[in-house]
Amino acid sequence: MNATVSFTKNAYDDLLSDCRLHNRVERVGLLIGQASHVSVILPRANHWRGRMGDGFTMTRADLKSGHDFAVAAGLVVLGRYHTHLHHPPLPSRLDRLSLPPGWMEVIARIDAPPDRRNVTEVRAYRNGSPCAITVREECIAS
Ligand SMILES: [Zn+2]
Repeated sequence: MNATVSFTKNAYDDLLSDCRLHNRVERVGLLIGQASHVSVILPRANHWRGRMGDGFTMTRADLKSGHDFAVAAGLVVLGRYHTHLHHPPLPSRLDRLSLPPGWMEVIARIDAPPDRRNVTEVRAYRNGSPCAITVREECIAS
């Protein structure tokens, strides 16, 4: 049975908006929430120094500030997301090697010219296996 990753609608909309900003370098960020539910995405700077558009790097400081942000909100860092331009949203060898243990990976495929980027496919993976993605309205506690 495949696992499912769920997003609040706000978090998923934020994810798509951030991924559409892909311009020359991959977008990257952290997925924050609880269990398998992402309630916040936190874009991070891409410090990749390799071939343009061909990878991403988050610094230790970016990871630390993301972790601190999550803890302050009573949440945890569940994983990360990044973009692939004109390329299927499948984890590359480097993606697999660089993913911290237990983290989920969400990859968004970006297509179309720079002035109107489109997210054409989003896939999620956990422990190396594809997961279904669901988006749900946030429960408002009364
Ligand atoms: Zn990748």
